Amino acid sequence: MKRIKERSKGIIKKKRMSFAIRLSVILLSVFTVFSILHLCSSIKSITAQYSDLMIRETKRTDTINSIESHLAEHQTYIFEHVLSTTDSEKNGLESKAQKDKKELMSEVQELRKEFKDTKYDIRYKSLASNVINYLMDSETVFSMSHNGQYDEMHEYMQDTLVDYINSVNDNVSSFKNLLQEDIQEARVDLESNTKAIYMHAIILLMVLIACSVFSLIISFRLSHEIINIDPLTQIPNFDCFLGYCDKPFMRRNLSNYAIMSIDIKGFQYFNQQLGTSFGDALLIEYASQLKKNKSRKRYHEYIARVNGDSFIALHKIDRIPVITDYLRQIDMNVRFKDSVQKVTVYSRCGVCPLEKGMSVMDAVENSRTALKEAKKLSSSSCVWYTPKMSEKEHNAKETIAKFSEAIKNKEFLVFYQPKVDMTTNKLCGCEALVRWMHDGKLIPPFSFIPILEDEGYITELDFYVFEKVCEDISVWVSKGIEPVRISSNFSKLHLKNKRFAEDVLETIAKYNVDKKYIEIELTESSGYDDFEAMTQFVNKMKVESIHTAIDDFGTGYSSLSLLKDLDIDVVKLDKSFLNGANTDLQKQMIENIIKMIRDLHHDVICEGVETEQQAQFLKSVKCFMAQGYLYDKPLPHDDFESRLVSPVYVLEKEDKS
Ligand code: C2E
Ligand code: CA
Ligand code: CA
Repeated sequence: MKRIKERSKGIIKKKRMSFAIRLSVILLSVFTVFSILHLCSSIKSITAQYSDLMIRETKRTDTINSIESHLAEHQTYIFEHVLSTTDSEKNGLESKAQKDKKELMSEVQELRKEFKDTKYDIRYKSLASNVINYLMDSETVFSMSHNGQYDEMHEYMQDTLVDYINSVNDNVSSFKNLLQEDIQEARVDLESNTKAIYMHAIILLMVLIACSVFSLIISFRLSHEIINIDPLTQIPNFDCFLGYCDKPFMRRNLSNYAIMSIDIKGFQYFNQQLGTSFGDALLIEYASQLKKNKSRKRYHEYIARVNGDSFIALHKIDRIPVITDYLRQIDMNVRFKDSVQKVTVYSRCGVCPLEKGMSVMDAVENSRTALKEAKKLSSSSCVWYTPKMSEKEHNAKETIAKFSEAIKNKEFLVFYQPKVDMTTNKLCGCEALVRWMHDGKLIPPFSFIPILEDEGYITELDFYVFEKVCEDISVWVSKGIEPVRISSNFSKLHLKNKRFAEDVLETIAKYNVDKKYIEIELTESSGYDDFEAMTQFVNKMKVESIHTAIDDFGTGYSSLSLLKDLDIDVVKLDKSFLNGANTDLQKQMIENIIKMIRDLHHDVICEGVETEQQAQFLKSVKCFMAQGYLYDKPLPHDDFESRLVSPVYVLEKEDKS
């Protein structure tokens, strides 16, 4: 649930980023389309302007050229007129000149339209007046030539007409030059405009490239983040950690480093009691504390989050003691819902140095194995990996693998260890203790019970044993052998099962066993939840008149409130009680504890009684029930059956063991 939440937080963030990228790509595309359209229209208008100009200038040039040629023709006619001898010749030339005159006048009119209100207006006016003056003067020349006034005509031509001819020709050629300049100017304009368009296009292209590179970098970073960064704590994830260790520089130097698997002691408590949001805030702060702790630049160290409260670190071996010291207890300020809460966090870690030839993955596994060992210790602690741990873990895996088959094949046997009333030396009860008959060998409980307990399989075995106990009781009863009350061990893991009491009752009912023959042994428990569940279970058993016992009293978290508040029938003193009864003071203490237990109306029995001396001591402090090698070791079914038949002990020697 929590992981889904974390992931969804990360996904929302990434979604926002990818939405931003998509939006910027859309905006960029719109900008590009508009820019291209704008460019195209600029190119189109410039081309149109240029072609307009070219048409206009060509037209003007043609008109000027035509004026020039008509003027030249007209002048030729004047000179031919002067030289011609006959009237008909003169008349023909005059009429040709008239035609040219008409043409010239219309061309001058044409120019008028072209150059009106332009920068050529003044020049045009000068050209027009020169042409008109020339034409008027040429009329005078024609009439003089016609009238034979050759001398005056020559004089007139030299004084006036030639000047006009020169002026007109000058006007025409100056117009032509100006028009050429215009065209040149337009070309330059066009070129510079085209250059500007090219520049515009290049800038657009560069903007496009820059934006594409930017989007690429962002999307690369985004995908890098999705792949490599833990969405909650924003530190690298496990894949990224492995990638870092695999870098050539690190690979060459790994033998100076150790891998550390780290977790927070009691993280579940924070999650359950203060809510998962607080748990998240705590993890974020914890990750930043771990980050502070590493000095990556100098030592190339690395921190990553694996999942939940599980972190992994790569540290220089010689820095491990400093780091574990720091991790042991961290006082943190956790930012949560606009406030800052002070929290002290205890860490546990498993360390595995990266020895030569050891792969990173193996070292990670080993550090996890060491962490499992650290978790078994009550304090916050750091455990260094040893190969024995792997051996243990391997055995554990093998045990788990064989467990189901062993149950099916009925390889688990129930032994019974008698309990004795020391006032009468008579059998007064017994404890069912399991053994595993595997490959012809009898395996003792300490080799498999802790493993099954760690992995959660113990609950199945406990009921298997309990069924066998009920079955044996019902068989003894049917055979006419009076059984004793038999206590069965139940792991504290059963307390997590809401139907624990019902399951016990159903088993008893299945074999139709009288409840007076049943006793349930539970071990003391540290957690409040367990205590609550234990109280409820004990009360349900009480209602059913089934005996309950607290096992191993005096070890672990012995609490007097447990005795006071729990309505159990029997308290089983652990054998360490006897080992500790050496001085008068210790003996006094044991006596007082036993007195208190009895005053609270619980029966009391002591385990591990091996000597007559111990039995005497127990009797002297008013503990009258005992279980131990002094009387019997745990007995196989048939031996115990014989003991049921002859329940009185005759102790020949003081020390029977
Ligand atoms: P426990 O419940 O405290 O059982 C008493 C243990 O003390 C037994 O060890 C017994 O053989 C041993 N013992 C009895 N008298 C003496 C003595 O005079 N001297 C010495 N040195 N030891 C003595 P065992 O049978 O090896 O069982 C070990 C533990 O395994 C049990 O301790 C119990 O915690 C667990 N166990 C055994 N059977 C079951 C089971 O069916 N379910 C569960 N959950 N645990 C079981
Ligand atoms: Ca026990
Ligand atoms: Ca015990």
